[in-house]
Parts: sequence; C-alpha cells; structure tokens
Amino acid sequence: MYAFTLDRPTSLAEALQSAASGAQVLAGGQTLLPAMKMRLSQPGHIADLGGVKELAGIEPSGNSVVIGAMTRHMDVANSNTVKSMIPALADLASHIGDRQVRAMGTLGGSLANNDPSACYPSAVLGLGATVHTDRRRIEADDFFLGMFTTALEPGELLTAVSFPQPKTACYMKFVQAASRFALVGVFLAQTDHGVRVAVTGASQGVFRHKSLEDALNKSFTVASAAAVHVDADGLNADIHASAAYRANLISVLTQRAVAHCLA
Ligand SMILES: Cc1cc2nc3c(=O)[nH]c(=O)nc-3n(C[C@H](O)[C@H](O)[C@H](O)COP(=O)(O)OP(=O)(O)OC[C@H]3O[C@@H](n4cnc5c(N)ncnc54)[C@H](O)[C@@H]3O)c2cc1C
Repeated sequence: MYAFTLDRPTSLAEALQSAASGAQVLAGGQTLLPAMKMRLSQPGHIADLGGVKELAGIEPSGNSVVIGAMTRHMDVANSNTVKSMIPALADLASHIGDRQVRAMGTLGGSLANNDPSACYPSAVLGLGATVHTDRRRIEADDFFLGMFTTALEPGELLTAVSFPQPKTACYMKFVQAASRFALVGVFLAQTDHGVRVAVTGASQGVFRHKSLEDALNKSFTVASAAAVHVDADGLNADIHASAAYRANLISVLTQRAVAHCLA
C-alpha cells in the first residue's frame, strides 16, 4: 500500500462533504482495494462509507423494494422482503462470488463499478429499476454506459436503488469457474411494461436483447425464445469462451429462465 488520507464519515452529509472535496468512496473494498494493491488505482483521499448507516437497509415501498447502496450482497440474499417480493434478486445475490465477497461487497459498489461480467447490473436493467443518487434519479436504461462506465458524475454518490416488483423473474448465470463472475448471465423479467431480457458477461457491458424481448412479448414460451437467432457479432471472445459460445449461452440461459418462470 501507499499513503493516502482516510475519512470515516458517519452520516450521508459528512460522506458528501468528503466526496465534494475529492475523496474516492470506499464501499466493501472488493474491487477498490485489489485495484489499489495492484497500483491500478492510486487515490490520495478515500472516504470509507462503512459507518454511514443511512446508506444500508432494505425497505418495501409500494410495489417496489428500495435497497440502500451500502447493503451487502449477503443481506439482500437473506432478506425476507426481497425473497418474498423479488425472489430472483435474492437468488442472484446468493450466488455472487463466495461468502467473503458476499459479506463485504455492496449493491452500490457493484453498480458504480459496472464490471461487464457483474450480476447486479443485469437485475437493475432487467427489472427496469431506478438508481437514486444524492442529486437525482436515473432510470436503469440510462445508467449503464459501457465497460466500467456509468452515468454517475465525479463526486456523485449512489444512495439506493428502487426495484419494481415483477410479475415473474429469473436470473440464470453460467459461472466463469475461476472468478465466479458471470461468463454469461441472463436476467429475465415479466414486468407491467412487458418482458425485459438483460444480458451480462457477454459484451462490453450489460445490455437488453431486443429480439428476445420482442419474441417473448409475442409468446412467452421456451420455443419462442429458442427460435430467436442470437448473433455472435460484437460479443466478447477470450480464453474462456468464443463469441459463438457466448451467443449460444444467451439463448440457452434465456430458454431456461423462461422455463423457470413458467414452472
Ligand atoms: C473474488 C470475487 C468474486 C466476485 N464475484 C462476483 C460475482 O459472481 N458477481 C458479481 O456481480 N460480482 C462479483 N464480484 C464483485 C463484488 O461482488 C463487488 O460488488 C464488487 O467488487 C464491488 O465491490 P464493493 O461493493 O466492495 O465496492 P468497492 O470496491 O469499495 O468500490 C467499487 C467502486 O465503486 C465506487 N463506489 C462504491 N460505492 C459507491 C457509491 N455508493 N456511490 C458511488 N460510487 C461508489 C468506489 O469508489 C469504487 O470505484 C466479485 C468480487 C471478487 C473479489
């Protein structure tokens, strides 16, 4: 490690003051600390959000569940509110990384980081959730801008996310065995505004698959999903899987998600 200034705010107001003075916020440290150890990131000023109680918690609000940015994956996985209103979200959280990652990793850190293989971005996009910051509300469709890039401005704090309750939903993840991130993950939801299919792990960032959505809006069946040709053009190809393999996974995981929703 190297020298840096550490703030330990105990309220949102203090955290915002730190952020305004240029501090990079630290959530669970699951990405930021390894990045610092490898010198990929070298902030000189850090604000640890761990003591800001207002940023953690899970509350039902009408037909939505509001989850604070500092809520740990483990708490989402174990929440009776999430399990009863959006079981697919609790299931997703329960399969992130390993126990240590789930004990420390946070919803806000995952979304602000926007790793192209992370699970939560697909739930936010698939459910059509709303991201709350200290300045505004950002719809899921406008939040994810590409690899490790979001609509958050410098110094802007993600404070919570409202997840609307879907009619049905399911997250299917094909695990990349070494990291436990998604080689490909598909979050499928039947919402009041139609079917949404969000794909992670396959591209430069999470995206909605319009052809699958159109087909499933016409007929919500496994056969309907299977009939859609998933184009491999533009998908990731690396030592773990070719673009064609990932395209096939998108199709197969969507079919499995439909089957799960219909069961
Ligand atoms: C071994 C391992 C396996 C993993 N497996 C998975 C997996 O299967 N699926 C998955 O989805 N993820 C996985 N992760 C990622 C993990 O779940 C964390 O969500 C992710 O690393 C972010 O960590 P964090 O929440 O501790 O945030 P930090 O590392 O503390 O912060 C990450 C970034 O977000 C910024 N930030 C944090 N909070 C806020 C906020 N409220 N507002 C604005 N900016 C903020 C920070 O400044 C930093 O730039 C894995 C991580 C590890 C180490």
